[in-house]
Amino acid sequence: EGDSQDYDREVESVCPFCGVGCQVSLKVKDDRIVYVDGIDGPANEGRLCVKGRFGFDYVHHPHRLTKPLIRRDDAPAKGLNVDPANPLSHFREASWEEALDAAAGGLARLRETRGGAAVAGFGSAKCTNEEAYLFQKLIRQGFGHNNVDHCTRLCHASSVAALMENVGSGAVTATFNQIEHADVAIIIGANPVENHPVAATYFKQFAKRGGKLIVMDPRGVGLRKFASHMLQFRPGADVSLLNAIMHVIVDEGLYDEQYIQAYTENWEAEKAHLAGFAPEDMAGICGIDAEVIRDVARTFATAERGMIFWGMGVSQHIHGTDNSRCLISLALMCGHVGRPGTGLHPLRGQNNVQGASDAGLIPMFLPDYQPVGDDGVRSAFAEIWGGAEFSAEKGLTVTEIMDAVHDDRIAGMYILGENPAMSDPDVDHARAALAKLEHLVVQDIFLTETANYADVILPASAFAEKTGTVTNTNRQVQMGRPALPPPGEAREDWAITVDLARRLGLDWSYSHPSEVFDEMARTMKSLANITWERLEGEAVTYPSLSPDDPGQPIVFGDGFPRAGGRAKFTPAAVIPPDETPDAEYPMILTTGRQLEHWHTGSMTRRSKVLDAVEPEANCSLHPSTLRKLGVAAGEMVRLTTRRGSIELMAREDRAVAPDMVFVPFAYVEAAANVLTNPAIDPYGKIPEFKFAAVRIEKGSAL
Ligand code: SF4
Repeated sequence: EGDSQDYDREVESVCPFCGVGCQVSLKVKDDRIVYVDGIDGPANEGRLCVKGRFGFDYVHHPHRLTKPLIRRDDAPAKGLNVDPANPLSHFREASWEEALDAAAGGLARLRETRGGAAVAGFGSAKCTNEEAYLFQKLIRQGFGHNNVDHCTRLCHASSVAALMENVGSGAVTATFNQIEHADVAIIIGANPVENHPVAATYFKQFAKRGGKLIVMDPRGVGLRKFASHMLQFRPGADVSLLNAIMHVIVDEGLYDEQYIQAYTENWEAEKAHLAGFAPEDMAGICGIDAEVIRDVARTFATAERGMIFWGMGVSQHIHGTDNSRCLISLALMCGHVGRPGTGLHPLRGQNNVQGASDAGLIPMFLPDYQPVGDDGVRSAFAEIWGGAEFSAEKGLTVTEIMDAVHDDRIAGMYILGENPAMSDPDVDHARAALAKLEHLVVQDIFLTETANYADVILPASAFAEKTGTVTNTNRQVQMGRPALPPPGEAREDWAITVDLARRLGLDWSYSHPSEVFDEMARTMKSLANITWERLEGEAVTYPSLSPDDPGQPIVFGDGFPRAGGRAKFTPAAVIPPDETPDAEYPMILTTGRQLEHWHTGSMTRRSKVLDAVEPEANCSLHPSTLRKLGVAAGEMVRLTTRRGSIELMAREDRAVAPDMVFVPFAYVEAAANVLTNPAIDPYGKIPEFKFAAVRIEKGSAL
């Protein structure tokens, strides 16, 4: 930490990395952030992790885009890093007027020649609520359809699908801080120590004061040291394991009959379905002893207060929605919803993925998850939006949009702050789609891998340079404040989107994000009693029941927002992974983040401290696997799937099962998503990032 001499001003804002939503104080001297402190936000109470504390300097990186850019007429064919030594060589600088005219002109031409459905948009969970709202409005109002999505499709879309179906709301039922009142907590398919580090400190404190922490994951993740039960089950066996746990609860009569009768429906069907999942039959499939399954079931069901947390190990499967259905059923049958110390909590990834989803940045829902197919909902929005008509048909999702480019159904895209050239599964397929687009507008702070394919690049603002609200995993809406001006000619994202909209013929007159928030509040019941003015003074958790209510940390204590007020049990059948290991690809690939790097690495790999700690693409293998390969830790291995190959440094890690390899996905030089399987869950349309068949060999570059 520094002292008061080290800075000339301090600005309170929110960490731009994960969904925990830690509040920070940015210490600024001469328009440079010199250090960051944690402050007393509702989610972090002063705590920060290494990213929040040391990952701020990317905003000052010399790679920041400072002028609008237009692809040169003589540029080579579109591709990734056409000239790595001189990455901007295939673009020329332009004025904002020229760049905005070119950006809007290309999209408008496609609208006229091919129809509005030939244009799609990817917004960003890194931008503010107001920017997400404007982005989805631009696509819907400007192009008349719903081909707008963002990275929620790649993280918790299946969790949201299951929650909407069975609970009637896509957000958490309780804040993670409620664990302080719990007796037992299940953490499944999540590695909070690396991915939600400040939330993990609350989980560790819970265990230290005697709470029972049941950790379930195919990798022996960091919380195992604090776990009363560590179930390192076989990858893909989640539904079998969870159904077996619920079988025991039914078999031994441990369920909460009173709660089930009062608040749920479809219990008899669930009960009948679970009869086929005796732990003795599932033990071999899951790799977990039947007695351990019974013990976990008894521990969770007999506790007075229990919570369930999950991450992308649950959601990123073709059976991701079924995994979440199981978790919802487990909580419901034990009556572990709606009271202090109980609840369902999918740990959201990006800093504003909850808010961007709430704001309607998804192809099937308008703001507040109001269905696009509902005529009344559409006409209410059309009225607020000045009579704009748009399609009742659900739009395409992230991976479907890339397929539609290959099929010539989509020819233009506006991409704001997303990096599909790194983040999509089977990324070579996505890159080929980006190269094929007739017109691509990218708005970002760096020349991302995706921006390499752009026709027009619009230089935008980092979080420390903008005003706007964000919503964390706890449903807490918080204010982000600008600490710095954007570099060069870069501008705030909302203002760029407004200028683009005007050039597309939309009658937009916003002059400040607060005006956008006011419009959102008119269309979103979840924001009732929450105003911009309130947020300038305090964080508010939605729902807020009155102008003085700081918000409700726990919801659904007296029924659910579904027809009849009841939550639903939806039985989940076992669906195997899309591709299973065979003689040619005998091992299992799984992917994820690591503590120091964030997603596609565009920010954290430009942060000195974080990149110094983790500078190199790597994968983790069990020591016995390394021995079999004849590879020492630190040497290179080659990973090959049906979609491609990468070479990267091997690490020894006993937490990884002998038939698995874990690959972090932040490294462009060995992009994990060259390997991953694009097969999607039929409900949430989320790709199966957590399971692919892979071959591992000694690398050539030893
Ligand atoms: Fe930022 Fe998440 Fe770390 Fe908090 S836990 S400091 S929000 S990255």
